[in-house]
Amino acid sequence: MEHNLYIYNTLSRTKELFVPIHENKVGMYVCGPTVYGDAHLGHARPAITFDILFRYLLHLGYKVRYVRNITDVGHLENDADTGEDKIGKKAKLEELEPMEVVQYYTNRYHKAMEALNVLPPSIEPHASGHIMEQIDFVQKILDAGYAYESEGSVYFDVEKYNKKYNYGKLSGRNIEDMLETTRDLDGQSEKRRSVDFALWKRASPEHIMHWKAPWSEGFPGWHMECSAMGTKYLGEQFDIHGGGMDLMFPHHECEIAQSTAALGKETVKYWMHNNMITINGQKMGKSLGNFITLEAFFTGNHPLLTQAFSPMTVRFFILQAHYRSTVDFSSEALQASEKGLNRLMEGYARLQKITASPVSSVETAGLRAKCEEAMCDDLNTPIAISHLFDALKAINLVHDGKETISQPDLDELKSVFALFIDEILGLKSESEISGGADAYKKAIDLMLNMRLEAKQNKDWATSDKIRNELTALGFEIKDTKDGFEWKI
Ligand code: ZN
Repeated sequence: MEHNLYIYNTLSRTKELFVPIHENKVGMYVCGPTVYGDAHLGHARPAITFDILFRYLLHLGYKVRYVRNITDVGHLENDADTGEDKIGKKAKLEELEPMEVVQYYTNRYHKAMEALNVLPPSIEPHASGHIMEQIDFVQKILDAGYAYESEGSVYFDVEKYNKKYNYGKLSGRNIEDMLETTRDLDGQSEKRRSVDFALWKRASPEHIMHWKAPWSEGFPGWHMECSAMGTKYLGEQFDIHGGGMDLMFPHHECEIAQSTAALGKETVKYWMHNNMITINGQKMGKSLGNFITLEAFFTGNHPLLTQAFSPMTVRFFILQAHYRSTVDFSSEALQASEKGLNRLMEGYARLQKITASPVSSVETAGLRAKCEEAMCDDLNTPIAISHLFDALKAINLVHDGKETISQPDLDELKSVFALFIDEILGLKSESEISGGADAYKKAIDLMLNMRLEAKQNKDWATSDKIRNELTALGFEIKDTKDGFEWKI
């Protein structure tokens, strides 16, 4: 079967057939986290969205170099050219070296990503490890005449750039309007216009992270790292650049301008952006008190959460929406995802226990093609998942002995489920994730079987002891006609 993958290019605002620049190699760059705090739901969505793209490209047989950076310098508060460096501020607050902050939150980010079964990228470059490359890049833009130096800082000349190229084309902003509303700086700022953005900033005395450059002792502007590291590892032109929609402006718009100004050509072929997550209809934000970290989801420790949610539930919740739609989080919505995921994984486990018959009375052909078609249509995971749910009906009927399935049909069904659930959607059963969960369940079963034996031997003391002690630990034990049932 021919696989024609179509992806939505934010730059052209259309779905385009994916044709890599180099036949079977794909270069893909995704903006990673600024590591000054714990990862939250807003970090999970781009990580999972581009994990799906990465996995699907691998499935299609491409050799993928996936670069996802760590921002550890230059990202100032308010995403603007002013304010403190986010990492530096945290370091001062906690009396740590900035790199201690970076290491601590990078480790925690990795742990959260592993729990979400997000594959590690091929390269994870740090902005602070690529200062030389960034200085070189700034110099290229200066040499090309699209930047100016002012008091030791270097700014991008947006108006001049816009005369030749189109500034604002990604986000659809009108530069004329922006120039009009930002015209009157009256020499109060180092910048000629407030629309200009910093490529290099001279460090003020209290700024703790700084490096030597031809213009001053300072640090790179936030957008510079992605231009420098993207082209360093993927070449002057590469296939895909992704990130959250909130990065489209100014971050990605500035990145396009920097790269085009320095290299004289468009660097990225396809720009892809995932939509945002709202919480009970509201934007997420620290000040709104609805900023839920991934760890809080996994432990249930947050006032907006009625219970803990496993990493796989969070992953499934995100995959149940198309990446370009908004997703509204609520505890109820996650509970529904938890139920759905359990049904899917139970069906998948049941599929392994089915025995084949000479003929099939259920129709399962075409499942693979339907799931592929959904994924090829701009990674439509909700549709692919709905096809898997349709197949669950047949699995359950066969499992209950009401319908039959032939060996070749059963083999195909198992293969499609393994491909889509394990490999492409990256869903794991909970016992696989926690490792010990399975052994723990078996240990409880073992104790309750011992209690059953004690009862049969009329050893009431032992039987009561097991029951009472498990109850005291929070287990709810129910005697049934076949034995027992238990839950916590
Ligand atoms: Zn970036």
